[in-house]
Amino acid sequence: MSAVRTYLDYNATSPLRPDAREAMLRALDAFGNASSVHAEGRRARAMIEAARGEVAALAGAASRDVTFTSGATEAANWVLSQPWRTVLVSAVEHPAVMVPAQRSGARVEVIPVDRSGRIDPDRLSVLIDGALGSDGESAADSVLVAVQHANNETGVVQPIAEITALAHERGVRVMVDAVQTAGRVALNQRGHAIDFMVLSSHKIGGPQGAGALVMHEAAKLDPLIAGGGQERGLRAGTENVAAIAGFGAAAAASRRDLGRTEHLAGLRNTLEAALMHATPDLAVIGSDTERLCNTSLVALPGAAAETAVIALDLAGVAASAGAACSSGKTNRSPVLAAMGIGDDIARCAVRFSIGWATTEEDISRCISAWQRVDRIRSGVREVA
Ligand code: PLP
Repeated sequence: MSAVRTYLDYNATSPLRPDAREAMLRALDAFGNASSVHAEGRRARAMIEAARGEVAALAGAASRDVTFTSGATEAANWVLSQPWRTVLVSAVEHPAVMVPAQRSGARVEVIPVDRSGRIDPDRLSVLIDGALGSDGESAADSVLVAVQHANNETGVVQPIAEITALAHERGVRVMVDAVQTAGRVALNQRGHAIDFMVLSSHKIGGPQGAGALVMHEAAKLDPLIAGGGQERGLRAGTENVAAIAGFGAAAAASRRDLGRTEHLAGLRNTLEAALMHATPDLAVIGSDTERLCNTSLVALPGAAAETAVIALDLAGVAASAGAACSSGKTNRSPVLAAMGIGDDIARCAVRFSIGWATTEEDISRCISAWQRVDRIRSGVREVA
């Protein structure tokens, strides 16, 4: 295996940012319980509140609207555990949203996407009106629209402002999974009055096992985890101060890095152009619509994704065959199926996702490693 590693799998998880690591180390030494009134407790509390402010700033929200959780999955489960009658969920949702929606007991209506992976707002209007039925606005409280801001596999960005506006016109609440847009797109939870916004620490360079639900002040939820009065009685359990502090520091750094999105898009575009030059029959999925600056999902016909990812790994490049959360499974990606992408392309889809530490050298190494993927389909045996 090559000694120099090139990590291009930021949509699965990001390397820990130095700022986050330092904040975590400081917090590990501040051992107090944040609920205690003594100096040790107050020190831990101050770290949590500073982190809350940073996460709120990243989300475009007020500090009081941020509740810390163990991750985005818990935040989404919390929202979906409420007694909704109907949940409208997009066909390209992450399992963190899709599975709790299906288990919620609510009627689940799937919002289709077009070939680019985008939700058609007119189609959503019809579905919302159908869910409200003859009860109209009086049923609005029992209906939830759950959509992601951007897709983890394709990077395709949804028209969130439009979707939220049309749901609100009918009095219906909206949950936005902003896990993949945080730090890549300026978020505006307040401005769009997004009722529930789901965030994850480890996708932005914070530690794994932390996240947040950002809740518009008008939105009231019953706790998912009951017990002590932590997080204003909304999420019980002694806070994971180090993880929260790391999340806060990562949020601050990610907000600063919003000015680097064009640079990231440039690196991603250089990579795609070089891969297309090397293998002109390459399919670049989602390139005909608005995409995250850091994501490239490509398929080389005849080169199975699992084999391609192994070949890249042997050349020192970490990429992903579809979503990391589904890795190990060889099932067809439901996201690509919803976009109407055929099996021949879907089974060859390899995702490169770059981030805060990606360099031009990383991109060059990936371009060189791509030769190995091209060789898979011509049957040339790989030599590790
Ligand atoms: N939503 C999206 C779009 C994701 O990509 C992920 C992680 O893969 C999640 C939710 C779940 O986040 P967490 O790992 O914090 O539970």
